[in-house]
Amino acid sequence: MKTKIKLNDNVVVISGIRSGKKGKVLHINAKKGLVVVEGINKRTKFVRPNQENPNGSSVNKEFPIHLSNIMYFCDKCKKGVRIKNNIAADKAKSRVCSKCGKSID
Ligand SMILES: [Zn+2]
Repeated sequence: MKTKIKLNDNVVVISGIRSGKKGKVLHINAKKGLVVVEGINKRTKFVRPNQENPNGSSVNKEFPIHLSNIMYFCDKCKKGVRIKNNIAADKAKSRVCSKCGKSID
């Protein structure tokens, strides 16, 4: 799956129960089309009690969500936007907001 989203981008969730939530991209799996966004899909995983840990414990883990559920969050437009590739006169490629043209990189 092709995406212009990169690590550390600020993104907003555009569908599902977490719609409207914003966070930073921590991990991208472009092959599977999955992203891990900070604080967006945190779930508690319980660890069964064992000898070292007789009471069991719980760990907070961030789970990936699908790339189609997020958009880049433009802080000028104050909403999720599409990213456009901008090719400068010297052929340098950069990412810009498709709405306001704000440079992203
Ligand atoms: Zn914008």
